[in-house]
Amino acid sequence: MIPPVDVYVGLGSNLDDPEAQVAQALVALGELPLTRRLGASSLYVSRPLGPQDQPDFVNAVAHLATRLSPLALLDQLQALEQRHRRVRQRHWGPRTLDLDLLLFGKQVIATPRLRVPHPEMSARAFVMAPLAELAPALSLPDGRGVSALAETLASPDLIRVLPERPR
Ligand code: AMP
Repeated sequence: MIPPVDVYVGLGSNLDDPEAQVAQALVALGELPLTRRLGASSLYVSRPLGPQDQPDFVNAVAHLATRLSPLALLDQLQALEQRHRRVRQRHWGPRTLDLDLLLFGKQVIATPRLRVPHPEMSARAFVMAPLAELAPALSLPDGRGVSALAETLASPDLIRVLPERPR
């Protein structure tokens, strides 16, 4: 059997009670086949990228251990997005649940359907701040440390951390 691989998934929502969407998705990630959830960051509120005439986002990062292949995990993430009835009317528009596969062990994947590390992650405070909270000693496959990267990001759009809620 394939040994489990440490994986990080970014979550985001800005529709239909985003805090509940993200909290439910954090639970659902731990229930995926061949997968365990090892940890989760706090929930962060951030301003949307792109069009500003939409609600703020709630973001978080989950740490999983999975025996799924990268594409099988992406299939599961996309099915979970569908179960949250994700609405995609426009690029960078509002969505009930967005799941991004950020890191899959130290693998670098560059296929049309899947790029890992997620191409924009190191430039986004709403990804790097929760990731650095969850795994401060972690490095990207290219050797850059997540804590140092998170500190370099100006984060005026990262508004606040939500208080802990029972999950
Ligand atoms: P978006 O909903 O804007 O995050 O983009 C979803 C599309 O990005 C899907 O077609 C995926 O196949 C593709 N994609 C490429 N790399 C990734 C990744 N690391 N995580 C999630 N989706 C990805």
